[in-house]
Amino acid sequence: MKYEFWFVVGSQFLYGPEVLETVETRAREMVAELSKVLPYPLVYKVTAKTSREITDVVKEANYRDECAGIVTWCHTFSPSKMWINGLASLQKPYCHLATQYNREIPNDEIDMDFMNLNQAAHGDREHGFIAARLRMPRKVIAGYWQDEKVHRRLADWMKAAVGVAVSREMKVMRFGDNMREVAVTEGDKVEVQMKLGWQVNTWAVGDLVREMNAVTEEEVDALVAEYEAAYDIATDNTAAIRYQAREEIAMKKMLDREGCRAFTNTFQDLYGMEQLPGLASQHLMAQGYGYGGEGDWKVSAMTAILKAMGEGGNGASGFMEDYTYHLAEGQEYSLGAHMLEVCPSLAAGRPRIETHHLGIGMNEKDPARLVFEGKAGKGIVVSLIDMGGRLRLIVQDIEAVKPIMPMPNLPVARVMWRALPDLTTGVECWITAGGAHHTVLSYDVTAGQMRDWARMMDIEFVHIGADTTPEKLEEELLISDLVWKLKQA
Ligand code: MN
Repeated sequence: MKYEFWFVVGSQFLYGPEVLETVETRAREMVAELSKVLPYPLVYKVTAKTSREITDVVKEANYRDECAGIVTWCHTFSPSKMWINGLASLQKPYCHLATQYNREIPNDEIDMDFMNLNQAAHGDREHGFIAARLRMPRKVIAGYWQDEKVHRRLADWMKAAVGVAVSREMKVMRFGDNMREVAVTEGDKVEVQMKLGWQVNTWAVGDLVREMNAVTEEEVDALVAEYEAAYDIATDNTAAIRYQAREEIAMKKMLDREGCRAFTNTFQDLYGMEQLPGLASQHLMAQGYGYGGEGDWKVSAMTAILKAMGEGGNGASGFMEDYTYHLAEGQEYSLGAHMLEVCPSLAAGRPRIETHHLGIGMNEKDPARLVFEGKAGKGIVVSLIDMGGRLRLIVQDIEAVKPIMPMPNLPVARVMWRALPDLTTGVECWITAGGAHHTVLSYDVTAGQMRDWARMMDIEFVHIGADTTPEKLEEELLISDLVWKLKQA
């Protein structure tokens, strides 16, 4: 889907046709300039003067799949009772850009005509009131439209809004059920479909095995050539690599046939397969598919959404699991990995394909997997949990480092990071909030974007960052519990 955003300018007839023409000309100039620097096109739609015009453009925005959201602005004054019917039916993300055409007040030129034409300070307040009155989730961005900071914030919001569009069309393919007895990978699939739009359904592992058996040697050759182009081969076990290619091709065919953008599997259910998909899942993630281990469909869908919200529509985000800590004073870090499936978009260098024995699960043969170190840099980890009757999104700021030791016998990709505000306080906060051991780790989606996304999806949002203390967090969670109970009532 090629997404775009619609620019809707509010005005009224009071100022005469000349002013309205000027407003439209300027709005067209602004979208042309902004579209050059934003990640998605901003399309001028209308200078709205009546309730009818607003309702019509909102109906069209709701209907058109390519429209990922609307951006509104009032160059002049737009009496906002005329916005009520339209906004009340809006189903797309909504950003109020509080800006004005001119940067400065022109000392000599300013008179009452200038004031009537350039009254965004006036109009944007009237416009803001009605959204507050309607209790609408929206993003307010104030600043001069040519400033880089405004561009960055608008770009971030657009990407979050695309995350909303991707969420609403999300389909997750579960190969088998989730791992036995695990609590955090459970969840209400009806609730996520109502709230987030996700369609989460199961396919039999036997169906996948049948699909794998139908893959041709030529198809395998072609994918292995892709592996060779992207990765270093550090194993003589070509049969294992070819087997992973076969798994990948079969999974991709099933995913694409059903329109699924995310999938899960579990080492406990590999009946008829020789290896847990490792390289196969990793290379699918590199192409933008979401993945969750042990049947964790929530983290799988979130992985696909964060990838879509990242750079170029497939950013540096991947499925992650907190494994073990390094607790030496002054060097406190988490080591994250998974038994195989870490996305190469997190890699600092060129990944190696290796084969090793995997003791967990029903692997008859040693699975091939990509091994690498994660990048250093700022990032986030994200966990969506089901609190029973509502969903909670927990986001923690992290600082990833080059792993401080080579760990030559660790046969999987690894990422090392320090959670904020510091490792142990961060862990206390994460555990207090109920964050899962599975997360999406992202280098290019920010906590602010996830906040926007959660607001648009109308779910609880918890952020753990540099300023979080366990005391403040506990209080926030207590209040949040009350708020969300009231919202449900
Ligand atoms: Mn796991």
